[in-house]
Formats: sequence, C-alpha cells, structure tokens
Amino acid sequence: MRTQIEEIKEKLNILEIAQTYLSNFRRSGANYFTLCPFHNEKTSSFAVNPDLGIYKCFGCGESGDVISFIEKMEGVDFPKALEMAANKAGVELKTTFSKEDELAQKEKKKVLSLNNLVAQYYHFILTKHKNGKKGRIYAKKRKVTAVLITKFNIGYAPSSYTSLIKFLRAKGYKDNELVRWGFAASGNGRIYDKFRSRLIFPLIDHLGDIVGFSGRSILENSRAPKYLHSPQTIAFDKSRLLFGLSEAKNSIRKSDAAILCEGQLDVISSHKTSITNVVASLGTALSNKQLELIKRYTSNIKFCLDSDYAGEVALIRGANLAHSIGLNVETVTLPQGKDADELINSDPGLWVNSIKKSESIIDHLILRLEKRLDLGNLDAKENFYKIILPIISGLPRKMDKSHYIHKISFILNIDENILLEELDNLTTRENLSEINSAKVRKVLESPAVKKEEYLLTLVLQHTQFLDCSFKTCTPRHVLSPAARSVLEKLKKYKNKKKRFVLKNFIAGLENVEVVLVRKLLITKLDTYFKLENEFEIELTKLCRHLKHNYLRTKIRLLKPQIQSAEEKGDKKLSRSLLEKLATLASEISKE
Ligand code: ATP
Ligand code: MN
Repeated sequence: MRTQIEEIKEKLNILEIAQTYLSNFRRSGANYFTLCPFHNEKTSSFAVNPDLGIYKCFGCGESGDVISFIEKMEGVDFPKALEMAANKAGVELKTTFSKEDELAQKEKKKVLSLNNLVAQYYHFILTKHKNGKKGRIYAKKRKVTAVLITKFNIGYAPSSYTSLIKFLRAKGYKDNELVRWGFAASGNGRIYDKFRSRLIFPLIDHLGDIVGFSGRSILENSRAPKYLHSPQTIAFDKSRLLFGLSEAKNSIRKSDAAILCEGQLDVISSHKTSITNVVASLGTALSNKQLELIKRYTSNIKFCLDSDYAGEVALIRGANLAHSIGLNVETVTLPQGKDADELINSDPGLWVNSIKKSESIIDHLILRLEKRLDLGNLDAKENFYKIILPIISGLPRKMDKSHYIHKISFILNIDENILLEELDNLTTRENLSEINSAKVRKVLESPAVKKEEYLLTLVLQHTQFLDCSFKTCTPRHVLSPAARSVLEKLKKYKNKKKRFVLKNFIAGLENVEVVLVRKLLITKLDTYFKLENEFEIELTKLCRHLKHNYLRTKIRLLKPQIQSAEEKGDKKLSRSLLEKLATLASEISKE
C-alpha cells in the first residue's frame, strides 16, 4: 500500500514547488540549475531533478526531497512541512488527532481568520479611509514609508471606541469572541475597542500567520501605554514570537546571522537599508523558544541592545541562553546611544557600518569592564572574571574558550591554570544564577556611581566656584544617596554662609557622608581648574550626562510598576504613574 507521504510526493512536482521560492532556473539535461538558497554563491550550483523528485547543491552539499525542501525553506518541522505539502498536493492527511486537539485546531483557525480580517480592516483605514488621516501623519513623522506599510501590512486603529466592534459584528462575530481574542474590553455592561489611536503592526509568526497585534500609540504625553499587545490566545504566545521573522528569514539564512533589536520600529526601519536580517522580541526578556526559532535558520545571533546597564544585563543573560543552545553570539554597538530606528533615520550608512563592525560578546564585555573597573585592584579582578568566566564557559567552541582564557589571563595578570580551574568549577546552573546576582548588577552599575562621585569631587575641590557649581548642577539628578545628600547639604551651606570652611561643613554631616567626603577630597583629579569658565564647561557636560541618566533610570524603574498596577487593575495608581512617566519623557525630549 502506498503511504500518504509517497502519494503526496508523487503528486507534487518539485520543480514547480521550487519555482515558487526561487527564480531563474536554467535547464541542463535532466536537471534545472539556479543559485542555492542555502548558502551564498555567485554561480548556480543548486540542481533540481523533477523526474527523481530531488534536489542537490553541488556547492554546499544540501540535498533532499520536496518535503525536506519545504521544511528548510519555511523553517518548519517535518509534520508541519508534510501538512503544507499535503495542502499543495490536495491530499487530505489522515490525522490521528484527538477530539480536543480537533476543537483546539478549529478555534485556532477561527482566530487566525479573524486576525486576517482585522489586519485588512486596519490596513484599509491607514491607507484609504478618511479616519486614517492621523495615522498617516504619524507614519510619516516616524518615516514609515508606503513600501513598508505594504510589506508589514501596517494599519491604523482610529480613536473611536466602537469602530472595529461595529465592523466585526456586521461580519457575524459575537461580543464574547471579540473580548476573548483581545480586540475588545468590557466595562459598564458594554464592550469597547481596545486598540485606539494606534499604529497597528500585525504580529506574524515564522509561518506567515497573523497571530496577534501590537499597537503604537500616536498620542504624545498620553496616559495610555506606549505599546499595546494582543493577550495570550490559542494562536498567540509572546514568548514564541519574534517580530519580523517571516520577512527576515530568507536574509537570515543568506547572511547566516540574525540581528536582534529591541523594538518593532527598529525591525521595520531596517528594511529601508540593505540590512534585513533583523528581528525583535516584544519588549520582554528573550526566551529559549525564541532562540530555538532563530537556530532553525542560522547559528549566529547578533545582539543590538541598549548600551545602558539594564541593556547590558539583558545582553549577558541573553548570551548565556544563546550559548546554552549552541548559538554563537556577537554584539552590535550603535553610536550616540541611539536605537536602530533613530540611527537609520538620521544616518543609514552609519547603521550599516555598525552592523559590519559587530564584535564577539566576550571582546565587547572585556572592553566594557576594563573601562569600568580599576583592574589594579584585587576585588575588581575578581568581579571581572566572575562575570566573564560563566560566559566563556558557555562558548560553543573549545578553541574560543582557550583563546579567551589566554586573553584574560594576560589582562588580569593571573595564571591561566587558575582561570581554567575556576572555569571547571562552574556548572551551567550556577552561571545563570550568577548572572542574575546583585553583585553583577552592582558591577555594571558602577560607571554611573563613578561619574556621580567625580561630580562631587569636582565640586568639593573647587569650593572657590561654589556659586557656579550650583548654577549648573542639580543634586536631584544624583542617584547614589550619600553623594546626593552631601551635595544637598553643600548647597544649603552655601546659601547660608559666605565663606566655605571645610571643618564647619563637615561638622554638619552624617558619618557615612564624612567618609565619602574625605575619600573624595584626597582623590587626585586629572585636571584642576584655575579658570571658572573652564570649570563650568566641564561641569555642564557632566551634569547633562547625569541628568539624562537620571531620567532614563527613573523611566526604566517606572515601567514595571505601571505594568503591575495595570495587572492589579489599580487605575488610580497606574494613572498617576503614567503621568509621572509622561513628565519624565517630555523632559528627555526637551534636551
Ligand atoms: P518607539 O521608537 O516607538 O518609541 P521603542 O522600540 O524605541 O519604540 P522602547 O521603549 O525601547 O521603545 O521599547 C522596546 C519595545 O518594548 C517596544 O518596541 C515594545 O515592543 C515594548 N514596549 C515598550 N513600551 C511598552 C509598553 N508600555 N507596554 C508593552 N510593551 C512595551
Ligand atoms: Mn525607538
């Protein structure tokens, strides 16, 4: 008896299937040749033989039948490829699903088809309807071009509370379905549209199905969260989705690397440049499942994350996870603290160059840590290798491990054998807890603290310029408590007394503050300023940096608080937090 697989293979012409993915086949005898989709090449060595139903690349050696071809091109597993092939062949697969599976499958199909309809609706509003005008203005402001709007099927949800609901009711959908699948919320016995005044990005999984939506608010200083995502449904699991993967997968395979950015607009903007192998997680911590998805197409990942300390902690965590499933990790550093979207819109060439200059995760961390730690000091040496060694131990290739151990032994001036012993003592489990430990965070946080102490040192060692100091610096922007309170007391002291007398000033300080002040007073400054205006220039530069850092830190701390207030349904709290957030954000944008 013929199996179903044989039946499907017989019905499908592998050349026709291949032609739906690849073009420019040239016949040579019984074979048809074109450029290989599985490696980069300039001459055609990929052959398809329709009579035998097989393909083979004489360059990279990939070969197989029509089902494995679909498997590789779509990045799916065998059962899924078989199902897709069966569809193309018009063969109905005899499944062995249980009744529950079948119901779940039905529901999933229903959600997917609803999602399709919703995407069309929002897209129509953005591109054609008069109620889409504000969306069009916002898209233009964000430099999202018509080509991108089509490519990513972007839409707009107008400000109305009922526009989508009315549309879907007319199509026969029930209110409870709209609530369950995340389009409507209920209140006061009525339901209303959840996505309002938002640019809408359909969330498309690697198979090309629209599984949910993400909406970017177009309102500035609004209380509404900046982004709103569909809730978890039978079709949508945030931790399994990488935004942009379906558009990026071919170029990920071709370039043999995936770039991971932070947000949807980073991915979308990158398609204005030659760099299109870009994906993003939806603002959540990277999951194993997302990394597994990437691994279907490449074993190289390049992290392009914020270079503040939270971004760095995320990088270290992500690198460990990626290593644990055998991915090679590199990092991309964008200049001027910009995110990809901002950089692309101001200087696309610089973006392309930054990507080309990606560096190994370990080299990146070594440079960072070297800048932050005073490596003459034993504690600092220990901090250094406590962070680096777990990552080295996760490196997929032995050769790389020994390369970096050698390098670090040189930097720290510690015997290689001692480092190797430390490395042996680490187990994977320990690595991760080590990474999350407060100690690592503290090490990574230290540059800000150092800058703050530098500010205080400057001020304390130039008391002849005290008036100028407090014209320029605002103690509020100093985050470490001791340094802040010393500055505050210094300001008060200055306002009351004409002349600065160290002994009198110190008399009004707490013990910890005295210790700090003494330490800073004997710190050697690189430059001692004789002229007030030179002093002011240096101070202004420093204070601008501290203010920026202060605002960003406050915003980062607020975000999880808002999320938890919203989850608890505490509207009053979430509103007041959102107001705070809006004020901070507007302060940043004023700079
Ligand atoms: P934009 O350029 O539109 O301001 P961004 O990507 O630069 O967006 P970030 O604040 O860096 O914004 O956030 C990164 C990602 O985190 C976003 O793309 C989004 O997926 C997610 N995100 C941001 N804010 C929220 C929020 N309030 N609720 C849920 N997800 C959010
Ligand atoms: Mn951005």
